[in-house]
Amino acid sequence: MAIREIITVPDPRLKQVSKPVEGGVTDEIRQLMDDMLETMYDAPGIGLAAIQIGVPLRVIVMDLAREGEPPEVRYFVNPEIFDTIEETAPYEEGCLSVPDVYDEVERPARCGIRYLDYNGNAVEEQAEGLFAVCIQHEMDHLEGTLFIDHLSRLKRQRAVEKVKKANRLKTRPAA
Ligand code: ZN
Repeated sequence: MAIREIITVPDPRLKQVSKPVEGGVTDEIRQLMDDMLETMYDAPGIGLAAIQIGVPLRVIVMDLAREGEPPEVRYFVNPEIFDTIEETAPYEEGCLSVPDVYDEVERPARCGIRYLDYNGNAVEEQAEGLFAVCIQHEMDHLEGTLFIDHLSRLKRQRAVEKVKKANRLKTRPAA
């Protein structure tokens, strides 16, 4: 396993539409998921899409366990949302690709998802609560959409400027 670099806005790769994984869940894909999970834990975050480490494939990892709880690792290959309800719920979201920015996004409160798991088995389940928020946030990444794209243009511009400024400070050589 290896920790990979997480790309941040305004990196144009985050706008890319990710491609489906062809040929099932191979060792190579499992290696990618292992690296993604380690990168996510290191950040730390609760979900990560492959494009966030610059790999344009439809792969997501997630762990929604609270601090002190045993890990609850989930892997999603080629996930699809097949059912959403009209009722929406607000949640204050954040994103490892838009560090230190949090804002409320309204999304369907529940959805059905189907995907291949770590072992390549087809799974179908209902997501609600934080799971529904997180899977829809990560699925957005696969379409090149960020949570700040759901906000007003002004808020979005502010968020990108904030990240750019933080990155400039980070890359400035220390005295
Ligand atoms: Zn994100």
